[in-house]
Amino acid sequence: MTDHSTLPLIDAHTHMRAIGSVANQSNVMDACHLTAVNALSMAARGGMNINQNVLVALFKAERPGRVYGFGGLHHEAPAVDPLRPDFAGQLRRLRDLGFDGVKMIEGKPSVYKPLATPLNDPLYDEFYGLLEAWRMPVLLHVGDPAGMWDTVNPPAWAVQRGWVYGDGTYPTLEELYAQVTDVLDRHPSLRLILAHFAFLDGDRDRCAVMFDRWSGLAFDLTPGWGMYGSFSKDPAAWRDFFIRYADRILFGTDNSGGRTPNDPEKVDTGSKRIAAMRRCLELTGEVEGFAGGSRYRGLGLPSDVLAMIYAGNFRRYAGDRPRPVDLPAVLEHCRDLLDLARGAGADEETLTDMTAILQRLERAVQFQGARP
Ligand SMILES: [Zn+2]
Repeated sequence: MTDHSTLPLIDAHTHMRAIGSVANQSNVMDACHLTAVNALSMAARGGMNINQNVLVALFKAERPGRVYGFGGLHHEAPAVDPLRPDFAGQLRRLRDLGFDGVKMIEGKPSVYKPLATPLNDPLYDEFYGLLEAWRMPVLLHVGDPAGMWDTVNPPAWAVQRGWVYGDGTYPTLEELYAQVTDVLDRHPSLRLILAHFAFLDGDRDRCAVMFDRWSGLAFDLTPGWGMYGSFSKDPAAWRDFFIRYADRILFGTDNSGGRTPNDPEKVDTGSKRIAAMRRCLELTGEVEGFAGGSRYRGLGLPSDVLAMIYAGNFRRYAGDRPRPVDLPAVLEHCRDLLDLARGAGADEETLTDMTAILQRLERAVQFQGARP
């Protein structure tokens, strides 16, 4: 059996919640010998998630060379015309601050509904055009598992989170895919990474048609473990698919940093998830899954394919190294956001977190200034 343990590994899909996430995601990165991680910011609305971009920027600054960051849009940021949020202007700022790409959670139905902005809305036109021109990647969560639209028998875990979409007030899965199709047809070389295999692991032919049609399209392997169940149903056919489209598939985990710093449970969960994913991709025959005695059939991918999925593809999309952060500019932006958060009536937890991020950024700027 080939030893793949020395292959560089980049986690293209991780999350930050609050300042405690920085230590936790650092610890996971070190414990799992990750070459780098990509921290994804969540879209902000008013005071909600207003900490996300500066939190990701802080993580990038504190672990230079090891952390990529995909910034998020602010949907109720002050704009010249309050009915027209300036997404292109926000993108220019994200790039100036040192972000490596953009994360859009806007295609998740529970986020989409309150925003009420189709993914192909003209509001996004200039934004997608710039991303395409700059060859800057965007990682989009579109859809969710089909069972969440089931009105008769939705999965219990979805009900628990309030993610049940069958009541007619949410877009259908096909409506969301149609919007993405329109975006890609108008921006055919957009470097678009769809999270969670685009929830299309039930339809391999459709995935192939999409990859053949748009050269910049990729999927990430971030579980929902449903996709690993799909792969298990026909590992030989999926193995061929992975080899054929080896340059379009990226490794990602959804590991989330949480609130409490140096939480050993985060390292434990993160390590186990990475190990389970690697078993599914590297081994053949029956393999142990992530939790609860789940079993899958492994794909047994060749080393050169794994090297692309684990790191090569992400580097091609986002650069060989993370872009450096403009720390003084991030600090200034953080001050503005804190004012905005106060004005928008953000909750106490958010304000406390933003204040802590601001202090850490101030220290980082001083440290940078003191360096020879
Ligand atoms: Zn995610």
